[in-house]
Amino acid sequence: MTVPALRIENVARRYREGAGALVVLQGAELSLAPGQSVALVAPSGAGKSTLLHVAGLLERPDEGEVFVAGAATRAMDDGGRTRLRRETIGFVYQFHHLLPEFSAIENVAMPQLIRGLSKREATSRARQLLDYLGLAARADHRPAELSGGEQQRVAIARAVANAPRLLLADEPTGNLDPKTAEHVFSTLAELVRASGLAALVATHNLDIASRMDRRVTLRDGAVVELG
Ligand code: ADP
Repeated sequence: MTVPALRIENVARRYREGAGALVVLQGAELSLAPGQSVALVAPSGAGKSTLLHVAGLLERPDEGEVFVAGAATRAMDDGGRTRLRRETIGFVYQFHHLLPEFSAIENVAMPQLIRGLSKREATSRARQLLDYLGLAARADHRPAELSGGEQQRVAIARAVANAPRLLLADEPTGNLDPKTAEHVFSTLAELVRASGLAALVATHNLDIASRMDRRVTLRDGAVVELG
């Protein structure tokens, strides 16, 4: 049996709301095999971001367990969670969050520098990734000099720079026109296939969702498989 890249077991997440509690996740179960891409399609407010934050070890569940690359995270302290997150998880958001004062290649090299690679190694891998994503000619440009689609591809390169096992994306194409969204998604899908990375992608784009390996939604706080 291969170890799932992500396993969520009986997870509950509640927010305080006045005197009561808003139950966002309840009995949520989800498993992602390496190389598998899963679309998370649910209406606004259903809990998609919450699920991604819990899966990404950014929030702790109130109940249940989250395994990332086989490691149980419930009993880990914040330092342990941060280390595991840095080593195994990449994030892509709707807005790219690139550092404006740095070039594309510096943005992509940054997570590897933080992890302790030499500048030469980090830059060399960043260049390979940007080449792979069709951005070789844009590597030395700052984010403001790039198109929306290019910025988002740089953000994808940055998310996978540390060779994570799990990619979590929250509406990664939500801010792009349909043609650019399609291009960015194709790039992402190729990368997932080529690297054996697992991807959980919250999206409203049904074309994109239909091209992923599985589709899930959230119903009453639980993860439900769609056809
Ligand atoms: P989605 O990503 O599907 O739009 P979210 O996970 O952002 O949904 O939010 C689910 C519900 O939880 C919403 O009703 C939202 O208002 C609420 N919520 C999200 N984060 C918090 C928070 N930090 N405190 C209180 N309520 C929150």
